[in-house]
Amino acid sequence: MRQPDNYKRLIEEILTLKNDKNYMILAHNYIIPELQDISDFTGDSLQIAKWATKINNDNILFLGVDFMAETLKILNPEKNIIVPTKNSTCPMANSLTPEIIKEYKDKYPDAPVVLYVNSTAECKALADYTCTSSNAVEIVNKIDSDTILFGPDKNLGRFVAEKTGKKVVVIPGETGYCYVHNRFSVEDVKKAREKYPDAKIMIHPEAPEEIRSLCDYTGSTGQMMKFPEFEEADEYVVGTEIGMIHKLSKTFKDKKFYPLKEDAICNNMKKNYLKNVYFSLLNEEHKITLPDWLIEKAKIPILNMFKLMEV
Ligand code: SF4
Repeated sequence: MRQPDNYKRLIEEILTLKNDKNYMILAHNYIIPELQDISDFTGDSLQIAKWATKINNDNILFLGVDFMAETLKILNPEKNIIVPTKNSTCPMANSLTPEIIKEYKDKYPDAPVVLYVNSTAECKALADYTCTSSNAVEIVNKIDSDTILFGPDKNLGRFVAEKTGKKVVVIPGETGYCYVHNRFSVEDVKKAREKYPDAKIMIHPEAPEEIRSLCDYTGSTGQMMKFPEFEEADEYVVGTEIGMIHKLSKTFKDKKFYPLKEDAICNNMKKNYLKNVYFSLLNEEHKITLPDWLIEKAKIPILNMFKLMEV
């Protein structure tokens, strides 16, 4: 098997394979810059899945983690979706299981289940609605119930409770969090304020409440992409995975972006790299497959979310 031996050549080989085999490359915002630069579309998981429904191309190489590839498949079941590795997963999504959801449903039989899109297809199949970090507050506000079962991110759940005033029961509870965002500390914010006194600090709602309260703006990656457009500040500290720095810097060329924490790195996102992307296209592997029943069931809460967004 041929093995491209240098970086530039590897990129050329990837682009040649992509064109010859007629693939589109879709990448999450947290993917390494080199791969963002050769992707046809970058965004958050839901933006990617929705974008894919609008393209004619049947072959997609997706760069992200497994629950995102599943969502892409659920919304585009007829498309051929491949990923460079099946080992790129999300510990937060995996912290919630169908058994835990059933347990809580027994305790709160009248409470609708709202799951963050960062959840497995099996869990989505048991939910009433999904939400993203951009629309979680809006979705929960629009649901006609004062008590909501919400998972798997406890920090996003608490953010939603704070903004909606509803009783939000977080499932699975203390063990549901993103290890990248949950690690931001008060010390990180203090240091950033000292180092960049004129900068606005943006933070993701997956970060703990005590950190959010010290920052200037709380928003999803999609919302962070819009925030600098309407602000006069020239500098921003970015409290999310460091992959966002590349995208923000490319979009707002006259502004400066600094990570809140240099090592805010999602190791699973970084399991997508040039060499396995090359082999993925070469061998057209690894295909995402889900049973039809699961696609049908998991699609319902996603479509319910879309419907609520239109109201
Ligand atoms: S950044 Fe956090 S939530 Fe996103 S895939 Fe990585 S571990 Fe999961």
